[in-house]
Amino acid sequence: MCDRGDTVRVCVPKAEANHWHFQDIDRCIAPLVNALNKSDIYTASCCCGHGEELGHIWLRDGRALIVLPDATKDMITEMVTKPDAAKEKR
Ligand SMILES: [Zn+2]
Repeated sequence: MCDRGDTVRVCVPKAEANHWHFQDIDRCIAPLVNALNKSDIYTASCCCGHGEELGHIWLRDGRALIVLPDATKDMITEMVTKPDAAKEKR
């Protein structure tokens, strides 16, 4: 995870179709955001969480990706199958 303000300029889509602009993206997730947009999976906003909260990438289609820097398979399984238990451990 990067510190707040540690960003990289990434070309991302604007809300209007076919318009792109450069935006400062958290350094640790900038390659992921760039790869998604280049693959026509358009992002709307994002934050790595900076170690204070879960990282996330909102997609323009309304879905969201959660970014866990040190995730394990067990952690993901518990979050998906027992979300209330996983929440208490955080
Ligand atoms: Zn970061």
